[in-house]
Amino acid sequence: MQKSRILVVDDSRFFNGLVSKAVQERVNVDVVSAFTFAETRQAVETTVQPISLALVDLMLSDAAKGEAVDWLLERGVPCIVFTSIFSEDLRERLLSQNAIDYVVKDTPSSLDYLINLVERLHRNGETKVLLVEDSKVARDYAAGLLKSYQFQVIEAGDGAQGLAALEANPDIRLVITDHHMPRMDGVEMIKRMRVTHDQDRLSIIGLSAGGGGALSAMFIKFGANDFINKPFLPEEFFCRVMQNVRMLDMVDRLTDMATKDGLTGIHNRRFFFEAGEALFASARREHLSLTAAMIDVDFFKRVNDAYGHDAGDAVLRRVATALRRQCRQTDVVARVGGEEFAILAVNMDSGAVGPFFEKLRAAIAAEHVVIGNQSLAVTASFGVCHGAGTSLETMLKIADENLYRAKQTGRDRVEIS
Ligand code: GH3
Ligand code: MG
Ligand code: MG
Ligand code: MG
Repeated sequence: MQKSRILVVDDSRFFNGLVSKAVQERVNVDVVSAFTFAETRQAVETTVQPISLALVDLMLSDAAKGEAVDWLLERGVPCIVFTSIFSEDLRERLLSQNAIDYVVKDTPSSLDYLINLVERLHRNGETKVLLVEDSKVARDYAAGLLKSYQFQVIEAGDGAQGLAALEANPDIRLVITDHHMPRMDGVEMIKRMRVTHDQDRLSIIGLSAGGGGALSAMFIKFGANDFINKPFLPEEFFCRVMQNVRMLDMVDRLTDMATKDGLTGIHNRRFFFEAGEALFASARREHLSLTAAMIDVDFFKRVNDAYGHDAGDAVLRRVATALRRQCRQTDVVARVGGEEFAILAVNMDSGAVGPFFEKLRAAIAAEHVVIGNQSLAVTASFGVCHGAGTSLETMLKIADENLYRAKQTGRDRVEIS
């Protein structure tokens, strides 16, 4: 995919520079600056990379009546408009042309607002939204809005198609759905989606038409997070959609904080034991083997003593990354203590256990952290328990005993039983 670009249009060199710099610092995209309407046209017409978003000053020296904004919107370039004057007429005109949002320049927080919005829109590019609506006209309209907010949009024409789309794209984060549709209506679809996807992970917004609050209430009752009455103003649609996406982000962040280790970003001790019990139970139910490993960095105290705590932290991050990289997505890899890590892997072949942990041991030994002009390497010892123990606790105890043996017999070793 081609890398996209953000266009910043403002005739004030100062403001243009400020915005361009802030965008570049916060969002990893190329920024193109234009100071006049003529330069804007040139930037859009000659660019090899598409412009994914334009931040445009309403009044330019060669376009005093907002012609640059009109021109960009006509060409389907999503725009956020900034202006130093504000009026109801202006707001209506901009939003009726489907500008994403407008920012009044003269308030002190407006730059923050603008940059936060750009960052949010940029992240939307990784967010899949499922739009379920049987009316092609209504669907095209809403899809156009969602695309201008940079989302990846997946479309479905009825509830049954919506369910199939969610199954095919389990990473969909937001569903926006109509109610009256052939084959399966919106409320029925939501009910079924909620069996497998809870409100914290998948947000659903119902679109209610035809007045009365009954349908809106039904949407919420059967699991929608929110609803929007049709017909809606683009501004309301934008605010509701963004609010729901922000909420999902917040839940993600809280979940991360509770289950991830702050230093290394891999899972923490608490998650290890919670997920571990579940993994142990399911392995036993399905008669699959379970492998538990305890890993302890060798002579780590010396690293801190010789190079300082920050260097020690860098080494721990590197070890964590190496472990995570070598393991399967479904394995649990966690930092369970200061320089101690643990792994749980389901369904590993008996013959594969030795070579696998030998590979991990070698991978850690091969890592080098550069501190100043020195290259710093560490090793780790592994204690592994493979099979199907009577409990997770017992397996970890055995792994720990094996780890102790690895330490006693020379370190940088793997001991398995
Ligand atoms: P051994 O080979 O026997 O495991 O020796 P060791 O030095 O690794 O073991 P010891 O338990 O004596 O020391 C562990 C050290 O890990 C002590 C502590 O300062 C350091 N440590 C624990 N948590 C952190 C951390 O978050 N960051 C850093 N930099 N060091 C940590
Ligand atoms: Mg309908
Ligand atoms: Mg230790
Ligand atoms: Mg140690």
